[in-house]
Order: sequence, then C-alpha cells, then structure tokens
Amino acid sequence: MTDDKRVCVKCGRSDEQTPLITLSFKGGAKYICSQCLPALIHKTHLLVDQFPGIELPTNEDATSS
Ligand SMILES: [Zn+2]
Repeated sequence: MTDDKRVCVKCGRSDEQTPLITLSFKGGAKYICSQCLPALIHKTHLLVDQFPGIELPTNEDATSS
C-alpha cells in the first residue's frame, strides 16, 4: 500500500478542510482543492514537483512575472 492521504498536492489541505477534486496521473490518484485548481490549469509549471513528468503546455504566454 502506498501513502494515499487525501490532501491537496499544492496547499496540503485535507478533505476534512476543503473539498478535494480527484486527479488521475500515471495510474495513481492525486487530489487538489478547488482553490488550487486554477494554478494547475494556468500555472502547471509550478506543480512539476507534484507531477513528475507532466507535459507542460508549449504555447505559453510570456507573462510570467
Ligand atoms: Zn489546495
């Protein structure tokens, strides 16, 4: 059994504290809360540590300040 605690991959809050959305990644389950979901969509590069090997969008705007 792997460590399968249900916590947001970004902020670490559990499903006791906030609703979590289940993600499927490389056959495993990950969880992210609704507040962090926009970061996963728009700032995917910030979550590469949580999703090793994730494919980043190539047509990214050069507006990273
Ligand atoms: Zn979160």
